Amino acid sequence: MPESLLCGLIGTGIGKSLTPAMHEREGAEHGLTYQYRIIDLDSRGLTVEDLPRLVSTAADLGFRGLNITHPCKQRVISTLDGLSEDAARLGAVNTVLFADGRAVGHNTDWSGFDRNFGRGLPGADIGEVVQLGAGGAGAAVAYAMARRGAGRLTLVDADPLRAQQLRDSLSVMFPDVDIVSAGLDRLAAVLDTATGLVHATPIGMVEHPGSAVPEALLHPRMWVAEVVYRPAETELLAAASRVGCRTLSGTGMAVFQAADAFEIFTGRIADADRMIAHMSAL
Ligand code: NAD
Repeated sequence: MPESLLCGLIGTGIGKSLTPAMHEREGAEHGLTYQYRIIDLDSRGLTVEDLPRLVSTAADLGFRGLNITHPCKQRVISTLDGLSEDAARLGAVNTVLFADGRAVGHNTDWSGFDRNFGRGLPGADIGEVVQLGAGGAGAAVAYAMARRGAGRLTLVDADPLRAQQLRDSLSVMFPDVDIVSAGLDRLAAVLDTATGLVHATPIGMVEHPGSAVPEALLHPRMWVAEVVYRPAETELLAAASRVGCRTLSGTGMAVFQAADAFEIFTGRIADADRMIAHMSAL
């Protein structure tokens, strides 16, 4: 009889998430009976305050694991028995594994970005990286960039306090990386000498069209990595391609964070290429 697994995703506004399809399809490819449920707080009239009850109910019902998304990635931590080292350092959890009577939190947002970056932009110069956006996704990708050993990492956000706070927490963790924050008014200056740009604001999503970076500030000496994944080619990536930059879409990060979570849930190696092909076809 095939191994049977039940997992789920908790968050808000996740009714159209492609995550269940990605997990279930990859599970089927491994011969697993794998069911993946959406637990959308909004549509159930629930809030983050219901999270402790939802997590313990999932454990009681025999869920193997949960993915956790906005706005629950920090709040879930107090409901868990332990954290992976990276999740503890990031202070954010997007994957919970129930095993041996314990609930342990992991973070595959940073590792998903990191794997996608290594695969999609091999040999990229990370000597002088500018990152626009220091919110939830921004914290994970900046952590990945610092962990990779960026020379200088400049964090820019429309909300200067967010950029400063992320800078402060990462600087403690990565004292060997020169991490600075800068206001939006300095974007042109810092991009002028940048070897790479990571975009981690919501601008460019279907719901927030446009680009947060004027095309005139891009130059072919920089690569451009995107976090937004719907659409796969944002206005920023289209402009970067026109200018002659190496580019990386956010689709791979979305797939690799799911692939890493799949591996935590199942103990099996996910076929990331197969998952990318599947996601592209959805
Ligand atoms: P968030 O709201 O937590 O953070 C967004 C940050 O961007 C905020 O700090 C905000 O001040 C800043 N910002 C907004 N507009 C700006 C602008 N024009 N210039 C500079 N800064 C600006 O959002 P989030 O959860 O970090 O999500 C950001 C994007 O990342 C979303 O599009 C989300 O879909 C995407 N995302 C992708 C993946 C993936 O796997 N590819 C994973 C998580 C999030």
